[in-house]
Amino acid sequence: MTAKIIDGVAIAKSIRAQCRADVQELLRRAGISPGLAVVLVGNDPASAIYVRNKIRACQEVGITSFRFEYSQDVDPQTVLQKIADLNADPRVHGILVQLPLPCRFDMHAVLHAIDSAKDVDGFHLYNVGALITGNAVYPPCTPYGVMKMLEYEGIGLEGKNVVVVGASNIVGKPMALMLMQRDATVSICHAKTRDLAQFTLLADVLVVAAGHPNLILPQMVRTGAVVIDVGINRLQTGRLVGDIDFEGIREKASHVTPVPGGVGPMTITMLLVNTIASATRSALSS
Ligand code: NAP
Repeated sequence: MTAKIIDGVAIAKSIRAQCRADVQELLRRAGISPGLAVVLVGNDPASAIYVRNKIRACQEVGITSFRFEYSQDVDPQTVLQKIADLNADPRVHGILVQLPLPCRFDMHAVLHAIDSAKDVDGFHLYNVGALITGNAVYPPCTPYGVMKMLEYEGIGLEGKNVVVVGASNIVGKPMALMLMQRDATVSICHAKTRDLAQFTLLADVLVVAAGHPNLILPQMVRTGAVVIDVGINRLQTGRLVGDIDFEGIREKASHVTPVPGGVGPMTITMLLVNTIASATRSALSS
């Protein structure tokens, strides 16, 4: 069997075209132009690239972006004050603080300072609670992107065995909740899981988000499984790879996502979707 490669770039392109149309419609009907504020602290090169890509994606669909950069040694109070100002700014519908923050910062305090109605990353406790109760307002962008990919490929989840490898707050846990919401039977594995293969072999759908190249080998995957690789790892050669042995697994799976070009483009796209959803809610409530 040779797997179908799920083209995240193409799916993202199609969703972004819809985003562009939604932005124009919002402007025409309600005179509202969606706005996203991005806050970057410090000089982590990867974070700078992520922020640049997010701003570019906003431009591509007509979302106004506001970028605020602070040096590594900025007083956390200055950043909290900026978030308070953005919470009150009617031009801003989404606020994103690029992670990681310097270790002097209390990350939770910063994330919870964002008005939950503008928390388009979905990391505020209110939005985490909403997700758990099945009333998600802003689903976290990476798992939301995975769900959209599965939907685009027509991959049903009801009653399926789904295994999520990775249990972080931003990917693994919300991923598992969203899959449960779709009536899948979900197992979550993490670094202390004994005999990972015993779980992964049960998966009809396997989602891997651990941050370790070649963690998942072909012998750990059931023939015909759908394999979604969220991992992004840069090898010493400079090459970007995911968490799975892509070449081996594509001979065994029914569907597989590549890295790059799989989940990555979907994550930024869902940030645009959440920002437009926020602007739409604000139009409806005014
Ligand atoms: P993270 O916070 O470091 O969490 C990694 C998770 O993987 C943890 O739950 C950890 O278990 C688990 N894990 C680590 N080693 C494992 C092993 N050997 N077996 C099973 N589980 C293991 O990372 P993250 O933020 O969730 O990101 C995960 C990966 O996805 C990274 O490569 C990241 O770059 C990538 N990512 C990609 C996108 C995208 O848009 N494509 C977005 C976000 C993240 P413990 O909980 O026990 O420590």
